[in-house]
Amino acid sequence: MDEFKFRKRRKALADELREKGIQDEHVLKAIGTIPRHVFVDSAFANRAYEDSALPIAMKQTISQPYTVARQTELLEVKPGEKILEIGSGSGYQGAVLLEMGAKLYTIERHDELHHRARQILSKLGYRAMFKCGDGTQGWNAYAPWDGIVVTAGAPVIPEALRNQLADGGRLVIPVGDSSTQSMVRIIREGDQFSEEHYDNFKFVPLIGKNGWNDS
Ligand code: SAM
Repeated sequence: MDEFKFRKRRKALADELREKGIQDEHVLKAIGTIPRHVFVDSAFANRAYEDSALPIAMKQTISQPYTVARQTELLEVKPGEKILEIGSGSGYQGAVLLEMGAKLYTIERHDELHHRARQILSKLGYRAMFKCGDGTQGWNAYAPWDGIVVTAGAPVIPEALRNQLADGGRLVIPVGDSSTQSMVRIIREGDQFSEEHYDNFKFVPLIGKNGWNDS
């Protein structure tokens, strides 16, 4: 249930992110709207509107709201655009993209998280395409993508993801070693790819054929 206290805290979280430098009001509005507490275990519901990552099943995390906001801002999502998310996790980042009017396609490697994200998003009334598998290969059947957001830390930029971008498409991906990753944005213009580097973050690893080994 979306209680009054949560609504107030959500608004406060959006204000906090604005103060921390998030400028895209569409992103802030989505964060101020989506009930983050339903994406976490009930034991953490009271901490859902803190600007921090929280544990979810399978030793994974729901990303810190600042991180979600920053990645979404860099993605420059416009209503109706086709967006691929790698790492559905809790489903929260997906909800932010859907709330902004994106057509969402999302891939998660853990079956349990895949099912749970699908269930929560549908309960909230969102429609998206879900897949369980290795997202480092992208999702060729529905490519090209206006945007791709990778929500786990990659050792390198997977070639398949770059190649599935539409002309003008953006790929936002944290790249680095296991302790720190730099947020990278690739923009495709025809056959050219520009690469921009932003702030440092710490993500759970992107595991797969074009990611880290599962160890
Ligand atoms: N977007 C998520 C959210 O809002 O909760 C963030 C989830 S967490 C930081 C990253 C997720 O990426 C984890 O659930 C993890 O299992 C998943 N993941 C890691 N490697 C993956 C891969 N190759 N393909 C798909 N999902 C992957």
